[in-house]
Amino acid sequence: MFSAGLRTVSPLPSSERAIPKCPEYDRLTACVQVILGHLVHLTTRHLEVFQSGDYGACRRLDKQLERVMSEQERSLGALRKHLKEHHCQGRKISG
Ligand SMILES: [Zn+2]
Repeated sequence: MFSAGLRTVSPLPSSERAIPKCPEYDRLTACVQVILGHLVHLTTRHLEVFQSGDYGACRRLDKQLERVMSEQERSLGALRKHLKEHHCQGRKISG
């Protein structure tokens, strides 16, 4: 008997363990993602105004970047703290 060449593909490879859902973890990671996106946007803008020689705009963006960088530190800190205290994501992130 000839069997078809279709292999059964399991949706979750056995090497990937399912990570339990945690709403707080989702919230914190979403927050970090928004801030990182903001940083990308500001950095791109910074490069543009720098290249155009608009140093006044550069200074303003520099200030904004500083603020967003500290937000990023805070949100990453909150995420690490949550992971340390809650252990909801196993050993995904350490340090
Ligand atoms: Zn959690």
